[in-house]
Amino acid sequence: MSGLVALGSPTKTQPWIGPEGQVMERLELHLTYTCPERCVFCSEEDRMTRYGEFPVTFGRAARVLRSHRERGVLAVHFTGGEPSIHPRFVDILRLAKKLGMRTSMGTIGTMLSRPEKAAPILPLLDEALFSLHGPDAQTHDALTGRPGSFDTVTAAMRASARPGFGLFVNTVATKGNLEVLGDTVALAGELGATLIVVSNTTPEGGGLHHYPELAPTLTDLARVLPGVPARAPESVLRFFGVPMCLLGEHAMLSNDLHWDPRVTTEWASAPGKVVFDDFYNWAPDRKRVHTAECAPCSRRGLCTGVFDRYAELWDTSALRPLR
Ligand code: SF4
Repeated sequence: MSGLVALGSPTKTQPWIGPEGQVMERLELHLTYTCPERCVFCSEEDRMTRYGEFPVTFGRAARVLRSHRERGVLAVHFTGGEPSIHPRFVDILRLAKKLGMRTSMGTIGTMLSRPEKAAPILPLLDEALFSLHGPDAQTHDALTGRPGSFDTVTAAMRASARPGFGLFVNTVATKGNLEVLGDTVALAGELGATLIVVSNTTPEGGGLHHYPELAPTLTDLARVLPGVPARAPESVLRFFGVPMCLLGEHAMLSNDLHWDPRVTTEWASAPGKVVFDDFYNWAPDRKRVHTAECAPCSRRGLCTGVFDRYAELWDTSALRPLR
């Protein structure tokens, strides 16, 4: 179950409990709707266009952190746009740590690549999920739309590496970089990533607008993905948005099996205004569907299937149900 949930509650400090008894412990907070890059697959493209002029003030971010901490949320992931360009980012991190939360952010490395900007951030940050979409500048920069972005994110990764720090990578698989995905994952491992998330092109925002040009075929995913984990033997691999049956012997690396419930706080439209609202996701089934091929599959209860847009556009006979 996912989406907007009515927030009725008897007392203010009870945790949010999911339909299967899950306790909500993770907050994703959209701090900015601006970014120096224009990734062609950006899931936030529409929200950045619509809400870029509505700043998230320090006071609003502080209220969100405090209210969710009271509900038992233990970890906050700052995202955007690029969260580190928020003018009060260090103050917001400091407050999260003061509240006892584990802190992370999704980043293209804008501030962490600059020593004077990174210095106050890094002691307050437990993890960072770096966006790395190719093994070289040519591949990566073509997808992010900004020359120099490969150099920025790899410099940020090198500057952030330290014992105990969660140095993670997200790489989005598209038609344009799938054939070098193994090289990208190998580079992420060499740069010290302990966790590498391979994300399938997601039909949201720019990813939806450009889906036919971007999304790899199921056949190509099945050919390439099973060979990828061996390219970074020291790292943990996860595959997001990929049917389990395309992963071969690595089906257990499907993110469907390792996903945590999360409350996402972001700008949303309301009649006559915009509001900063909470969306509760209790399962990784967003925009995923089962197809006719899935009917006899014994993994159907674990795997959330293919993206809905893929099934609308194309044949799904490359799925391999486990009987
Ligand atoms: S056949 Fe369907 S349910 Fe089974 S692993 Fe593939 S996508 Fe998932």
